[in-house]
Amino acid sequence: AVLRGSGTPLEVETVTVDEPGQGQVRVKLSACGLCHTDLSVLQSVLPQTSPLVLGHEGAGIVESTGPGVTSVAPGDHVILTTTAFCGRCFQCVEGMFAQCERMPLALGGNFPFHLDDMDLMPFASIGGLCEYTVVAENTAIKIDDDIPLVSASLLGCGVITGVGAAINTAEVRPGGSCAIWGCGGVGLSVLQGCRIAGASTLISIDTNPAKLEFAKKLGATHVIDASVENPVEQVLALTGGRGADYTFEAIGIGEAMEQAYTAARRGGTATIVGVGRFDDSFSLSAGLFAMTEKTLKGSFCGKGASVRDFPRMLDWYRAGKLDLDSLVTTTYPIEDVAQAYEDMTAGKNARGVVVF
Ligand SMILES: [Zn+2]
Ligand SMILES: [Zn+2]
Repeated sequence: AVLRGSGTPLEVETVTVDEPGQGQVRVKLSACGLCHTDLSVLQSVLPQTSPLVLGHEGAGIVESTGPGVTSVAPGDHVILTTTAFCGRCFQCVEGMFAQCERMPLALGGNFPFHLDDMDLMPFASIGGLCEYTVVAENTAIKIDDDIPLVSASLLGCGVITGVGAAINTAEVRPGGSCAIWGCGGVGLSVLQGCRIAGASTLISIDTNPAKLEFAKKLGATHVIDASVENPVEQVLALTGGRGADYTFEAIGIGEAMEQAYTAARRGGTATIVGVGRFDDSFSLSAGLFAMTEKTLKGSFCGKGASVRDFPRMLDWYRAGKLDLDSLVTTTYPIEDVAQAYEDMTAGKNARGVVVF
């Protein structure tokens, strides 16, 4: 799936893919989940400077490795992580792996795809919407062979972002009450993370009734249709008028972020997971911020450390605690990728996945 530039349509083309260079891995993709960040690129909300191969939620099998690669070998099953990290920079030593100062996203300069006289960049250093891609070694995380790769692909971005926000960022405690704005792939993963952490009240909020049904299936104890009810009032009503211990915004809209902050109880924690437009914002009362002693946190990619979090999330999957299979509501061949993004815009899927 090739995007020649901002504002151009997504095209399915036949490209050539380089052999892996020093420290690189060539992966045969089995599946690539479709994430809203791809849509932001397609809609030029996130402008890109180079022609690229879209997609960043991939899983597959290592085909070949370049010189110096030691952590994976041909035949290994891998998930491609959006938060590759070096483990040695200041932020990594601080435990802020998603803020790694040397992550390949920041490095760029990898153009493994070629179409006519064009060199194409892999989006997010992954380029998962292609049968083959070439990534840095620390982007390909080995997993056990028994995990279905279609379900595993979701861990790469949406699931680690959502589950990680609950477990790593908010550090939800057993018995807590949680309210989650948004029931897309990320919001439903926040919900599951809160459930796995032992929260007893799980409130999911969306404007799409079909997505609220997904939330009920994945463990929501209450759902709020924000198109007909005021979500802040409803969260307060469901938590004895106090507000939720933990609130999450997993949409990327300033207004919803403000609602999530408002609906957290005094002393509670509001975690912002959604990435909105850079010109959108929300406001806080200068009088109430200190008085209510709430904590407002940002959570990028679930504050995730893939080498730690993928194995434990797959353990939860095996134990039946983390439902990945239900998140995959439609699979598409690559030829239908444009339709798949239209379905995303229409809110039809929890997660659509392109399968190779
Ligand atoms: Zn993503
Ligand atoms: Zn680092």
